[in-house]
Amino acid sequence: MIPNINYNNLKDSYLFAGIAKKTKAYLEANPGTHLYRMGIGDVSLPLCSAVIEELHRAVDDQAVKGTFHGYMPECGADFLRKAIADYYRGRKISLSDDEVFVSSGASDELGDILDIFGHDKTVMIMEPAYPAYVDANIIAGNRIIRLSAGEDNGFLPSPAEIPTEAWGKADLIYICSPNNPTGAVFSKTALQAWIDYANQTDAVIIFDAAYEAFIEEEAIPHSIYELTGARTCAVEICSLSKTAGFTGTRCGYTVIPHDLERGGMNLNKMWVRNRTTKTNGVSYIIQRGAAAVFTERGQQEIHENIKVYKENANVLMEALDAVGITYYGGKNAPYIWMKCPGGMGSWEFFDKLLNEIHVVGTPGEGFGSCGEGYFRFSTFGSPKDTVEAAKRLKALLENN
Ligand SMILES: *Cc1c(COP(=O)(O)O)cnc(C)c1O
Repeated sequence: MIPNINYNNLKDSYLFAGIAKKTKAYLEANPGTHLYRMGIGDVSLPLCSAVIEELHRAVDDQAVKGTFHGYMPECGADFLRKAIADYYRGRKISLSDDEVFVSSGASDELGDILDIFGHDKTVMIMEPAYPAYVDANIIAGNRIIRLSAGEDNGFLPSPAEIPTEAWGKADLIYICSPNNPTGAVFSKTALQAWIDYANQTDAVIIFDAAYEAFIEEEAIPHSIYELTGARTCAVEICSLSKTAGFTGTRCGYTVIPHDLERGGMNLNKMWVRNRTTKTNGVSYIIQRGAAAVFTERGQQEIHENIKVYKENANVLMEALDAVGITYYGGKNAPYIWMKCPGGMGSWEFFDKLLNEIHVVGTPGEGFGSCGEGYFRFSTFGSPKDTVEAAKRLKALLENN
């Protein structure tokens, strides 16, 4: 018996392992040093009180015969599917409740969704990219084509840059906006170009909207369905992880419009079939907590938390502005993607920050080779540490 040989094609996830190894070695050599951890892609603030109260209430429901819930519907509880669809409808996007699928998080879905496309597809990934896109497709045995983003396109590649003849046609296109790691965001015009391209070429866009709640600018689309033609070419995957601090609580959602068909097959129906086969739904308790996010109070409270992260972003951006460093993101995303000073490599800069100012960030090269020479700061850390890290960073860059 030979198991899935595609696993042999995975590279070691050296990015976060490499960071962990280097910081551990530093702490062993310099015990007791306080490190300013600006690398984590995890939130640090607790769940808001609207969610906590609802979780408690739901636990109590499970204690009483009349309110107890057993198996939940595989595609999501009606109350949560409606709450999410209402959230979209509030933004003038018309979705029916059964176009929304409740999930245990976006990472699960970004890979699981490949089930409905088959495992011999060509997948376009814009790099620098969230590492899971690449790995999930390697495991599925898909062919990956990488579209490099860089300063010349503002980290926002356009379909015009695709060397079509050399590559053949992409079946799937992953787009993440606001982007992790670069913080870049697609304007309506730029995103429309991808929608038109996908519709023309019969491709399907997997739109990762994990950071939509961080968008500040009025004109930036929160959802791909704000644009014309997206209902016939796009799946949207979102998560409450970064929006509402659900990284350890686990809940997300996936939107598949009824209009999305390929080869005479309806992708919404296929996903219903997939979920009813492969899941037994998300926990009742968690779905109740998730529904609280979409209430008026929940929205207000999660945005208070997001404001804290945005203040962290402001502190870092002020430091970089003061020393004239080029960076992306920070405004509509919880990440700042800076250019390493003096043409330094991203791991070289990592070592310098760790050794000289005890700040830990994420080397851009770990998100794809075109990320070399860049560095990612997360704004999810504590405000106190962020202020000190920004001060140290500014002093270090001033002296270079
Ligand atoms: C954090 C993150 C997610 C969310 O993943 P979950 O599994 O829902 O926690 C999805 N996409 C990107 C790009 C992310 O950075």
